[in-house]
Amino acid sequence: MKKAIFPGSFDPFTIGHYDIVRRALPLFDTIIIGVGTNAQKKPLFSTDERVAAIRDLFADEPKVQVQTYHELTVDFARETGAEYILRGIRTTVDFEYEKACAEANRQMSGIETVLLFTQPQYAHISSSLVRDLYSYGKDISPYLPNKK
Ligand code: ADP
Repeated sequence: MKKAIFPGSFDPFTIGHYDIVRRALPLFDTIIIGVGTNAQKKPLFSTDERVAAIRDLFADEPKVQVQTYHELTVDFARETGAEYILRGIRTTVDFEYEKACAEANRQMSGIETVLLFTQPQYAHISSSLVRDLYSYGKDISPYLPNKK
């Protein structure tokens, strides 16, 4: 039984995030999408809105669950019984950051991180880009996933 968490802010969950989860499905029996709630950050979309949108997307995919978490990522992984952390990489900047997190998390808990590279057509998409466009009243639907 291979279980992974996919932790993130997902403010909002983009087609880049969606693509990572879909491509990781054959690798795991269960993927728990962990919506982080950081008291320091004021999100654009509330936790409830983010969770509801992601649950709706994966309503027909029994391998995917959605939960919120407040603790350190490795503690969330342990609590859910996950042995893997799933993350995505777009750029060399992501690479350096993910490498440091993966090493720290492995040292703290023995939990391995599985990294998937983005597809080139999604490499420029980030939640912060989508939030910027939204704040200027632009249509963000091209960046949000449609249920497949
Ligand atoms: P965090 O705040 O933890 O970085 P994000 O919600 O921004 O959370 O992202 C969660 C994960 O998804 C990270 O590993 C990030 O690199 C990855 N990710 C974000 N956007 C994309 C994308 N367009 N393609 C592939 N991976 C992505």
